[in-house]
Amino acid sequence: MGTRWTQLNATVQAMKVAVVGAGWAGAAAAYRLQQAGHQVTVFEASRHVGGRARSNYSPKLNLTVDNGQHILLGAYSAILTLMQSLGLDLSQRLLRDDLSIRCADHSLVLRTAALPAPWHLLWGVLNAQGLTLREKWQLLRICTQLRYQQWQVPVGQTVQQWLRQGKQSDRLVRIFWQPLCVAAMNTPIDIACAQLFAHVLRDSLGATRQASQSLIPLCGLSELWCQHALAQTDLRLGTRVNTIKQETNGTYLLNEDTYHAVIACAQAPHTASLLQDLPPALGSVELLQSMQAMQHIPIATVYLELEAPWCLPHPMWLLQEDPQGLAAGQWLFDHSCLHPESTLLAVVISDAGRLQHTAKDTIIDAVIAQIATQTAQWAPPMPSVRGSELIMEKRASFAATPGLQRPDNRSPWPGLYLAGDWTDTGYPGVLEGAVRSGLRAADLCLQDYKKETCPVTHC
Ligand SMILES: Cc1cc2nc3c(=O)[nH]c(=O)nc-3n(C[C@H](O)[C@H](O)[C@H](O)COP(=O)(O)OP(=O)(O)OC[C@H]3O[C@@H](n4cnc5c(N)ncnc54)[C@H](O)[C@@H]3O)c2cc1C
Repeated sequence: MGTRWTQLNATVQAMKVAVVGAGWAGAAAAYRLQQAGHQVTVFEASRHVGGRARSNYSPKLNLTVDNGQHILLGAYSAILTLMQSLGLDLSQRLLRDDLSIRCADHSLVLRTAALPAPWHLLWGVLNAQGLTLREKWQLLRICTQLRYQQWQVPVGQTVQQWLRQGKQSDRLVRIFWQPLCVAAMNTPIDIACAQLFAHVLRDSLGATRQASQSLIPLCGLSELWCQHALAQTDLRLGTRVNTIKQETNGTYLLNEDTYHAVIACAQAPHTASLLQDLPPALGSVELLQSMQAMQHIPIATVYLELEAPWCLPHPMWLLQEDPQGLAAGQWLFDHSCLHPESTLLAVVISDAGRLQHTAKDTIIDAVIAQIATQTAQWAPPMPSVRGSELIMEKRASFAATPGLQRPDNRSPWPGLYLAGDWTDTGYPGVLEGAVRSGLRAADLCLQDYKKETCPVTHC
């Protein structure tokens, strides 16, 4: 009986690696392995690359739109480095702006300044409109405390508990922290993990001015970098993997072909069902149970096509949400700020579970009325709406709650690695976590390959 490695192509010494899932984690893993000279096959169940951050044709709008409006942060260093190594011009693909929170009804305007950290933030808070002096002091105090505690919060604390302990007023929580937390974590503050939120704050607000900047994609999400990263791989779109089996020599069998290694990059419950036919290994039962137990929270995006471009002075506005009612829009994006001829608006509704059973048209009408009310003072007013679409992503991200067991990228089975925003990235379910997990899984695979083939390759 040979080992996994005895079938290696003797002349090129290349591994055959299967990557399951062409989301951002899978694309990052595949690119890293392909760059290292290995033979990579990527299986993707859908007809698109990008996974939960992809572009789709909408027959209702007769346009290609993303499955949801996404923003990146300057702190997303792994993604930005990857895009640069692909030779992509970041300034053509991402609109970079200083971090700002502007309420559509002008009840809050906070914009960081063009100053080095931490003065950019200090200036922003001190000059914010819509916050009392007391609230500015509360905000600066809790951020300073968090920095002083090296971004560590008590184990098991929710964001709500952390804010209460930090003596933030109810109003400050409602108008500032709650929208920020739901946008960053897609998890409401009463169940969101304070430690993960602290990590987001550390790497954005707590870091350099550049790290805190927002980056809005200027092209479709599939085209942003994934398509380019996968161009040299054997990409099999519309090809679902139903199960992963292990051969007696340790190689893996997927869709009737064998591979030296596998990187499983589907969402946690899908990956768990792919792995259930593998022989039990140390910790594998607990691993599969924790993956199946992960809870997910939906995000809805309402796209509105206007009769004419609105041309707002800024692309991104915070809306006042009615947390119980249907006026549920949280962030408004004007695409005419990204492309002058665009007539598209995108309205993001995170933590959208309560809307899942409401008719889409009812939600769309309520959101249009919400925007009209909250921008009533603006000139010019919103042009009339000629088309609309609501995309509900039911499993947009996992619920980032305290004490959640998130697996490492190395699995209990040798040669099989896990990647995805749900693995132990230190972040909530976000793009940067997905990409970091894909790169780490690929690096572990490369390390193991090097270690295990040393006697063969004499390296
Ligand atoms: C509407 C919405 C808005 C969001 N907004 C933001 C944001 O503004 N900023 C941010 O940072 N993050 C945001 N996120 C989160 C971000 O999109 C995700 O964290 C990220 O896309 C996850 O990538 P992934 O590769 O881990 O998983 P996925 O994207 O889920 O990729 C998994 C892939 O595996 C494929 N697959 C599954 N099973 C199989 C199988 N058996 N065989 C073959 N293929 C399979 C799937 O089709 C999918 O393409 C948002 C998510 C949504 C849905």
